[in-house]
Amino acid sequence: MRLTRDTAAALHLQMAGRLWREDRLEAAAAAMSAAFAAGLPASHQFDLQRMIDAELATRRRSVRVRLSEELEIEVAPMQTAWRVAVSDVAANALRDVTRALDVRWPMPVLLTLVPDSNWVTFVHARYGYYATRSDRLKVVLPPASAQLGGVLRSACLHEMAHAGVATVAQGRAPRWLDEGIAVWVESDGRPRGDIGGAWPQFASADALSGALEGHAMSLDGRDAAICYALAGRIVQGEALRAGVSALHGWLRRIGAGEPWRRAYGRAFHRPFWRTEREWRRTIREAAGR
Ligand SMILES: [Zn+2]
Repeated sequence: MRLTRDTAAALHLQMAGRLWREDRLEAAAAAMSAAFAAGLPASHQFDLQRMIDAELATRRRSVRVRLSEELEIEVAPMQTAWRVAVSDVAANALRDVTRALDVRWPMPVLLTLVPDSNWVTFVHARYGYYATRSDRLKVVLPPASAQLGGVLRSACLHEMAHAGVATVAQGRAPRWLDEGIAVWVESDGRPRGDIGGAWPQFASADALSGALEGHAMSLDGRDAAICYALAGRIVQGEALRAGVSALHGWLRRIGAGEPWRRAYGRAFHRPFWRTEREWRRTIREAAGR
């Protein structure tokens, strides 16, 4: 039997995705090239190819240092002092995330710092990205998010919080909640940011998730900043009202397979629609309507 070109391209692409999730970047890059050679249109899965390329280029230029049972970093082998300082920030951030979300890490978090901003021009995100791999929880940060004394701590907290949510909720948290928790953790429980322009398009959980997931919005733009601030504010409100342990219980129930709205009802002892009603009121008040 001969494979058609489309089938062959699809198989190579599937293989590239699998190898990338296993963090086997050399092999993933080869599979990606094979997919394009077999006729995969360049526009298709472009981000996967660029992620593989950026992560592979970083791996070739980096050293990997295991800092603890739960944390490994992959950084350029430049100045030792810089690496020590970065490691300190990362370790503190991971400790804070562990505590904030009551996480038991099933495998180490791998923090990868991409050394060249030209490799990550495709990343339009608040800081970088998080992706579950088969033996690591991988956080990738571009140079702009790795500034010592600047955003590095916030970036580590935000992306490691995604790793924590993915772990506790088993990848089942809705996007608005995932981002809301990341923003809440990133700002040490006190999310700031203007939500004045949020009415009416982000006025429900589903609308907010849709906006954050859609391709229409650039995640480093103004609309995204409003969505992040709003999601963070909602999570903060829940944590203040019912306590952080209710939030943990909610995530654990989602992780055990309960639909998130029902899990909310059980963890917070009230229906989610009441929260959503208050959410709309918050947006109206912020907009002065
Ligand atoms: Zn995020």
